[in-house]
Amino acid sequence: MAMDMTFLGTGSAYPSPHRGASALVLRTDGDCWLFDCGEGTQTQLMKSQLRAGRITKVFISHLHGDHLFGLPGLLCTVSLNTNSDPQQNLNCVDIYGPRGLRHFVRVTLGLTGSQLLFPYAVHELEPTSDQSPEEGQLSQEMTAESGLPHPQEQPGKTITLDVSSDSYLLFEDKKFVVKAFRLFHRIPSFGFCIQERDRPGRLKTEVLKALGLKPGPLYGRLKAGESVTLQSGRVVLPSEVLEEAIPGRKVCILGDCSSVLGEGPLRLCSGADVLVHEATLGNEHREKAVDHGHSTPEMAAAVAQACCARRLVLHHFSQRYKPSSLQKEGDEDNVSELQRQAEEALQDSGVEVILAEDFLSLPIPLTRPR
Ligand SMILES: [Zn+2]
Ligand SMILES: [Zn+2]
Repeated sequence: MAMDMTFLGTGSAYPSPHRGASALVLRTDGDCWLFDCGEGTQTQLMKSQLRAGRITKVFISHLHGDHLFGLPGLLCTVSLNTNSDPQQNLNCVDIYGPRGLRHFVRVTLGLTGSQLLFPYAVHELEPTSDQSPEEGQLSQEMTAESGLPHPQEQPGKTITLDVSSDSYLLFEDKKFVVKAFRLFHRIPSFGFCIQERDRPGRLKTEVLKALGLKPGPLYGRLKAGESVTLQSGRVVLPSEVLEEAIPGRKVCILGDCSSVLGEGPLRLCSGADVLVHEATLGNEHREKAVDHGHSTPEMAAAVAQACCARRLVLHHFSQRYKPSSLQKEGDEDNVSELQRQAEEALQDSGVEVILAEDFLSLPIPLTRPR
């Protein structure tokens, strides 16, 4: 199964002509999952190879506008482009994010009289009180849901922290387990861990032939992990006839943060194939970055190293950093300097550093265990 990630916006604070606000798409077999949706995400999508109508799930890391202002508009445009054929099976779009998100979507769609042709559900993560300074916490009154739900709003889950694993289970199916973990920012922020399930290894045809098994349904059952009893009464275990399992890929996408919180993040991100981390400002602005709840390349590198990630992708750059293609000689703020700073911090660690730019598409191949 092919998997890739496309960055639609790599700027912080607001969209500019040279950098969109935060948004990226993880694509698996044509299904698109959108992570954050800053203002202008829909036009960035139109400029990309991706199709907004393929978005089945949306994950919002935190409620700051540069990660959220694009969501109501995007939902409306997807609806406009949806075929209104009543025979069409319109699937529910699942939206995950912090408490308050359901209220935001309901109010913005409701006040603007926006109609949607497809159902949606907002599943809210309940933050803990240590995810932000006190002034960053939303009172229950501010997030209380008032008024009628939007006609297309389906009931959403409230997801609380599982204290034993220090994580939030968002959903799991045959292919993936998706969890969230806590980050520290000016307002509660979350990271997401997308773990693909391991797949059975190839069948050892020589062994199967020696056992007298011919290709057919029994092969499928063994591959699916079932034991098979031969006519002779001999039980064949899947482990006898399967090569080593193919490990699933792990992609971790962190929202804005000046640090991870608790043990959950490093545990979940351990061995990540790709770790996406913000680097809003260069190392020389560390104090300012932390004051605003953000990270520097060195801080992002420390997280990548602590969890032994294969690749660290930096994004969410201050708009003072122009994309490399627009950089002029003598420019004071150089985005490639951010990459250099992370690489310096990761010397000899084996972690590859990648600088995200708008429309960068990153293939995520299957890898053998290290
Ligand atoms: Zn931000
Ligand atoms: Zn933020």
